[in-house]
Amino acid sequence: MTMSSLRFKMVEAAINRKAVTVTPPEGRPSEYFGRKVFDKEAMRKYLQKKTYEALLDTMEHNTPLSREVADAVAVGMKQWAMELGATHYTHWFQPLTGGTAEKHDAFVEPTVEGGMIEELAGKLLIQQEPDASSFPSGGLRNTFEARGYSAWDATSPAFVVDTTLCIPTVFISYTGEALDYKAPLLRSLTAVSEAAAEVCKYFDENVTKVFSYLGWEQEYFLVDAGLYAARPDLRLTGRTLLGHDSAKNQQLEDHYFGAIPSRVMGFMKDLEYEALQLGIPVKTRHNEVAPNQFELAPVYEEANLANDHNQLLMQIMKKVARRHDFRVLLHEKPFKGINGSGKHNNWSLGTDTGINLLAPGKTPGENLQFVTFLVNVLMAVYKRNGLMKASISSATNAHRLGANEAPPAIISVFLGSQISAVLDRLEASTSEEAIVFGGKSGFKMGGIPHIPELLLDNTDRNRTSPFAFTGNRFEFRAVGSSDNCAGAMITLNSAVACQLKEFKKAVDAKIAAGEKTETALFEVVKSYIAECKPVRFDGNGYSDEWKAEAARRGLDCETSVPLIFDRLVSPEAEAMYASVGVMNKVELEARAEVKWETYTKKIQIEGRVLGDLVMNRVLPVASRYQAELLDKVFKMEKLFGSDRCKTLAARDIALIESIGVHLEAAQSLTDEMVEARKRANKIENEREKAIAYHDTVAEYFDKIRYHVDKLECVVDNELWTLPKYYEMLFIR
Ligand code: ADP
Ligand code: MG
Repeated sequence: MTMSSLRFKMVEAAINRKAVTVTPPEGRPSEYFGRKVFDKEAMRKYLQKKTYEALLDTMEHNTPLSREVADAVAVGMKQWAMELGATHYTHWFQPLTGGTAEKHDAFVEPTVEGGMIEELAGKLLIQQEPDASSFPSGGLRNTFEARGYSAWDATSPAFVVDTTLCIPTVFISYTGEALDYKAPLLRSLTAVSEAAAEVCKYFDENVTKVFSYLGWEQEYFLVDAGLYAARPDLRLTGRTLLGHDSAKNQQLEDHYFGAIPSRVMGFMKDLEYEALQLGIPVKTRHNEVAPNQFELAPVYEEANLANDHNQLLMQIMKKVARRHDFRVLLHEKPFKGINGSGKHNNWSLGTDTGINLLAPGKTPGENLQFVTFLVNVLMAVYKRNGLMKASISSATNAHRLGANEAPPAIISVFLGSQISAVLDRLEASTSEEAIVFGGKSGFKMGGIPHIPELLLDNTDRNRTSPFAFTGNRFEFRAVGSSDNCAGAMITLNSAVACQLKEFKKAVDAKIAAGEKTETALFEVVKSYIAECKPVRFDGNGYSDEWKAEAARRGLDCETSVPLIFDRLVSPEAEAMYASVGVMNKVELEARAEVKWETYTKKIQIEGRVLGDLVMNRVLPVASRYQAELLDKVFKMEKLFGSDRCKTLAARDIALIESIGVHLEAAQSLTDEMVEARKRANKIENEREKAIAYHDTVAEYFDKIRYHVDKLECVVDNELWTLPKYYEMLFIR
């Protein structure tokens, strides 16, 4: 079979594929929700009361788990898992490569009698030393000292996938440095909890803990499995490096929120059954803007759990997609010319007394608290502008940011007209005007207009803003669809924690100087409102005027991804992370190193795949077609004579020439790219190498593609080997 006939076979198979229906688990969703999770209900059932209570104490107060308790927990957990069919267990962790890692071990242990017994010892539950020397560590772990430990994160419950008991763990080096996303995430959650609780005490003595909540929205693409198989670029890089636009794509806006195709519905239902059984509270599903693009969102949860759930969802999505003859694409920009995929991280802070600190309150006190937190978040995003961008930057997300469909590569905050008006009003008031003492509630806020509990701005959402206030939370929209949400959440929580500590210091100084608490709070908030103004932007983030304006305002406008990573190792970043105890200098350096290395590798792979496709797929086919035309023209000349042929075959001759031009250009640009790659590969320093890949290699991709896509338009469709955009998009 030729490559082009393979293409037609796959197109035909895709057209004929029927929806796969999967029988749901028995009962209602509320009955099978969390069935495969070792949650409190399962713990109560499978653990002795005192074991259960000790474990609960660890989960809620981070008390260390004794060996005795661990052994008892392991016994109960193993029994529970085996009843669900588990035969193996794994420490499930989140390495810096992205994705999740697992190494399965069977429960069985040999007995002295020569038999086997199912075992799970407490020590194996708590800690393991996977031979994971091949995970990137940015030099944190030399291979001769390749010890990395995975340690149980008891705050996130264990779960069963297929026949494996998965134990969520952190992954740390022998010397205690984080080698993963989870460890710094947990540290950042503690940091923000402590700093926020301290500030809450100005308003309510009873607050002891503040939770960070995350509600992610996951966008993704589906492609038919057969067509995917026929596209080496999709298989190896997750995106199409070549391919002319489909005549129809998203311009009719007929996909967004449209009826979900039946094959996709089959997939979604199946995925939701799986997710619900794993305790992921999935709620929303819909078509997204681009053809073949969809979204799934759960109800928000505590950030560590929500993040584990997002990682788990991405993992099971891939598996479920295969059952439906789909492949799921989590790449930020799988197809040129149509929207890419992001992950919106909805984030808020809430107290253990049940107050959402980012929701307007009912009383003046609650509103001063709300404004306090809101303004501190603004300050954090303002001051850590570049770091926030570094947290979501990658080779893949770069295609999406600033590409007129997603937030630009400048981090600003959208507040909406009502909240903006409140802040402007406060900024213009004196403390006497703003805070009127007396009355039952202690004080009134004269300067603050009434803040409705349900904000109307909820509806006039600004889609172009990377960080938008949406009524009772912020939505960080610049996160990439394939990202680990923790990257963004570590940065945001650390920046906010650091900011809240500085805020408290400033307020306390004023109180010590004899000011009333409310006045002190108000005055610091007011100075912050003035200071962080440059980060507030409600206009069109796509416009060129904004780019110029943002630069004037001093916001971080760098667009080169390797240079954006410099922010991670700046002295300010080091000081910030150190002040909240989230990451030390070595850990930050390691992260930057891994990011540069990953950037280089991604571009390197794309360069190789593109080079191969051009040389052995595109050029041969285009040449063959050109040769066919030449043959025809030569024969016509023989038959009709030169002059007559020039008229009769004018179009063919022009086409031969145009194919020749594009062939030559594609070939020589590819040669140049290969040379640039060779030069870049010689560079040892990871940062310099990534910069070279960005500046000298990646810049060829679009130029080469331009010529190939032109060829795709004119070369005989029968010869073309790669499935075309209009064939891959539009699932029936
Ligand atoms: P939209 O697409 O309009 O932005 P969705 O309903 O798809 O909204 O998703 C909103 C997400 O925000 C959901 O995951 C939801 O649970 C989450 N969310 C709602 N309130 C909060 C909150 N206070 N803190 C964090 N996340 C929240
Ligand atoms: Mg959203």
